[in-house]
Amino acid sequence: MGAPAERRRALSAPGVSTGRGYRPPMLARAVRIANVRGVEVRLDPSVLLLGVLVAALFLLRFVDGFSWPLAIPMAAVGALLVMATTFAHELAHALEAQHRGIEVEAITLLLFGGVTEMHAGGQTARDELAIALVGPYVSLLCGAVFGIVATVSPDLLPDAVGAPVAEVAGLLGWWNVLLAAFNIVPGAPLDGGRVLRALMWMITRDRMRALRTSVRAGQLLGLTLVGTGLLLPFVAPLTLLPASVGSVILVVTGVFLYLAARRELRHAELDEVLSGRTVRELLSGLDGRQPPPLEPPPDAVGADTAGVPELPAVQLHADLHALVAAFQGDHDRVRVADGAVEVGTLVERDVARSLHEVRRFGAAAGGPEPPAPAAPVASRDVEPM
Ligand SMILES: [Zn+2]
Repeated sequence: MGAPAERRRALSAPGVSTGRGYRPPMLARAVRIANVRGVEVRLDPSVLLLGVLVAALFLLRFVDGFSWPLAIPMAAVGALLVMATTFAHELAHALEAQHRGIEVEAITLLLFGGVTEMHAGGQTARDELAIALVGPYVSLLCGAVFGIVATVSPDLLPDAVGAPVAEVAGLLGWWNVLLAAFNIVPGAPLDGGRVLRALMWMITRDRMRALRTSVRAGQLLGLTLVGTGLLLPFVAPLTLLPASVGSVILVVTGVFLYLAARRELRHAELDEVLSGRTVRELLSGLDGRQPPPLEPPPDAVGADTAGVPELPAVQLHADLHALVAAFQGDHDRVRVADGAVEVGTLVERDVARSLHEVRRFGAAAGGPEPPAPAAPVASRDVEPM
């Protein structure tokens, strides 16, 4: 019923990312496959594309030194190990966060690696630093283990087994070392961006300022990758397949990083707007701005309620995070109540517009001072790899 695409746009436009049940659009299709210590593990369909790409890349290399019947299973095992080590990297973030008392919701594996979703409420700069560093650390550890396997397997195993094992392990070792190196580049949303943010936060004691710095660094990194990708064909002739493939990979990764960095800033800004405010405050106009219109209750006299599904309700005194969470699902309206008394209905589009305005432009001239945000701001951390 209705147009779900429209609804998703209304929600994602202001970057509403808080409250249980929200899935960033890119993660909405992920399939749940397992549960590790209360952390849901999901596979996005795009991960199949990653598997095929990695397997093809590995196969191109393996057929040089091995027969096809041997190279194909080697490439398949290599691709599976890439997924497994990506998962290990994400699991490290998740377990370190859990260890520090931070609620972790899910790990999703997708085309660009992995994403760990966590509720960052109560997180300190020190927590953030540790959670960010443990991912690249585990990738380096994986790199070292595969390096050792690649070195010793030709001596320990019979030739027929030793050579392919050494080849696959060697490639996996380098893959993980490169992954750690790329991830530690200081720009949001990479782990290095989080490290930068945590360090800046420690120095300036201002989380939002630290976040803006890491986002700007991430956007600069994204633009640099796009620029390099566009220049690559002029440096290396385009007729060479690797140059054009490399160019496309750089541009796509750069755009992805740039957009992810921007989204991270929007999420944080919106969380700042939502934190510590109630539905009642929204309806009386946040920071002196126009409140979203409150429509009459759906079951008011004369309203046609036939075929209208039961809408979720929030209380006037409820937190704005609860209101945003209530909009999740196949409906674009939420009922507002004051105890048992029905007050009216809020439309998602109007709420999104209102929050968006406060987020972008702050307090209206002459409006009341915005309340100090409850520090640290509760937010959901989404990070690639
Ligand atoms: Zn990571």
